[in-house]
Amino acid sequence: SVPVVTIDGPSGVGKGTVARALSRRLHWHLLDSGALYRILALAAQRDGVPLDDSARVAALAPRLNIVFSAAADAEAILVDGVDVTAQVRLETTGGLASQIAAVPQIRAALLQRQRDFMQPPGLVADGRDMGTIVFPEAPLKIFLDASAEERARRRFRQLRDAGKPARLDGLCAEIRARDLRDRQRATAPLQAADDAVVIDTTHISADSVFAQVVDLLAA
Ligand code: C5P
Repeated sequence: SVPVVTIDGPSGVGKGTVARALSRRLHWHLLDSGALYRILALAAQRDGVPLDDSARVAALAPRLNIVFSAAADAEAILVDGVDVTAQVRLETTGGLASQIAAVPQIRAALLQRQRDFMQPPGLVADGRDMGTIVFPEAPLKIFLDASAEERARRRFRQLRDAGKPARLDGLCAEIRARDLRDRQRATAPLQAADDAVVIDTTHISADSVFAQVVDLLAA
């Protein structure tokens, strides 16, 4: 069967960076599962479906035509032919995603779409429940963690470098609020799988995390 590496952890921990680098190194497919939740929330808004109408939001999931294109450096996300890349990345969209992600019916509706990414030669899957629920058989599971303050600093630098300065204390508060929602929800709470390797990245660089993951994969 197709090998899968799962990379789970809280928001802003650098999962995306490590997952992308690993998928490039291995020439494996990449699943950014958070993007699917974000896309679904945006599509509901687009169609005038209230986010708390879970049945209608869930019904949208199998109908969306989603294309992740990685042409050269510019990665783009097309939904039903429309480029939604910038919208998907907004902080507010992350909040909407986290709202619908608390609903079992919606998580179930996205399950098959996520598993569809499992294609040869392999898959690197980034999210919250990749190792626990979506790909429980994955031979290598990584759980990245870091303090909320450090994750807020990383996000702060990212935004500043993108010319979108934000306030550090505000970011930290947002990250804590999202963490609490993600860790305490009844359905698929954010937690490491029993057989996951936990890496605390608070004091280590993205390069060093990547090197550790590559070592684990080779072991
Ligand atoms: O990782 P990202 O910030 O894009 O995820 C947005 C939100 O989607 C998270 O805060 C979380 O609530 C939800 N999510 C999830 N399960 C995943 C990926 C994301 O519940 N596998």
